[in-house]
Amino acid sequence: MSSTWHILGAGSLGTLWACRLARAGKAVRLILRDAARLQAYQQAGGLTLVEQEQPRHYAIPAETAEAGGPIHRVLVACKAYDAAPAIARLAPRLADGATIVLLQNGLGSQDEVAEQVPLARCIFASSTEGAFREGDFQVRFAGQGFTWLGDPANPAVPDWFGDLQDAGIPSEWTVDILTRLWRKLALNCAINPLTVLHDCQNGGLLGHLGEVEALSVELAGLLQRCGQPEAAIDLAEDVQRVILATAANYSSMYQDVRAGRRTEVHYLLGHACRAAARHGMALPQLEHLHQRLVDNLRARGLPSA
Ligand code: NAP
Repeated sequence: MSSTWHILGAGSLGTLWACRLARAGKAVRLILRDAARLQAYQQAGGLTLVEQEQPRHYAIPAETAEAGGPIHRVLVACKAYDAAPAIARLAPRLADGATIVLLQNGLGSQDEVAEQVPLARCIFASSTEGAFREGDFQVRFAGQGFTWLGDPANPAVPDWFGDLQDAGIPSEWTVDILTRLWRKLALNCAINPLTVLHDCQNGGLLGHLGEVEALSVELAGLLQRCGQPEAAIDLAEDVQRVILATAANYSSMYQDVRAGRRTEVHYLLGHACRAAARHGMALPQLEHLHQRLVDNLRARGLPSA
């Protein structure tokens, strides 16, 4: 079987993974959005990753989804709302038993992808690494972190997992990936939308702790009901710990809104509200928060789902 890492999306995380795998001597191929992006990439001559103020250039081969050749393993590094349509385009090239590694934040996009390709193995990831785009095909590695990977349908560690250690990607295989994704989703729901609505850094929420606490209580109840009791343990305390530890930061949702970019709300707060409705749970604080956020995004001309 081919050991090539196909990486779909040469944005922040896609570049971070592609460059580390390539410099460890792994075979890497980028899959870019379309012919125009491929041409722009070829003009740039590769990816640039800036680490500790040191830019390094990586001339990694790239193609579009329509190029020929089977794909055995693909890391999906686009936003949650782009994942399923991107995989639908790639599906004709997926080999039998192909593996799809999904880096998307939140929940819901993983199942959308799995529905497109029922024969592929879908591995979910949850990452605390931080990177952002400084320019086209140039990414800054902004925050050390860790990535957990797991397959809710199959606890076996994939045979390529050692590639991540070889490439210096801090990571671990876990059988509890859904617990991690739910916990991260709940933290996101309790913090990020409020930073948009109150127009503040995470630390600004210290002035709205009553609202934060009420949301945390509802979210903990939702996690319990969704079969994720471990993700609910000490959630309210953890939310406050994160607010304090990241007081000077602007949340990812805040940054997206400020830059006029589409948010991943559908896979974060939207997913939580849909899960509550499915279980017949009334969560008034969470629903009110969702409605206020939707109104806020619409007023700015941004997609609300
Ligand atoms: P990003 O910088 O916006 O990069 C996304 C990339 O996907 C873009 O380069 C985009 O192409 C590409 N793309 C979209 N549709 C595509 C398609 N059909 N075919 C090929 N490429 C396609 O996003 P990101 O920050 O890396 O985030 C990716 C995911 O990781 C998100 O769910 C995010 O929440 C999560 N995450 C990010 C970080 C972080 O620090 N950045 C940390 C943890 C989790 P164009 O360049 O053509 O627009």
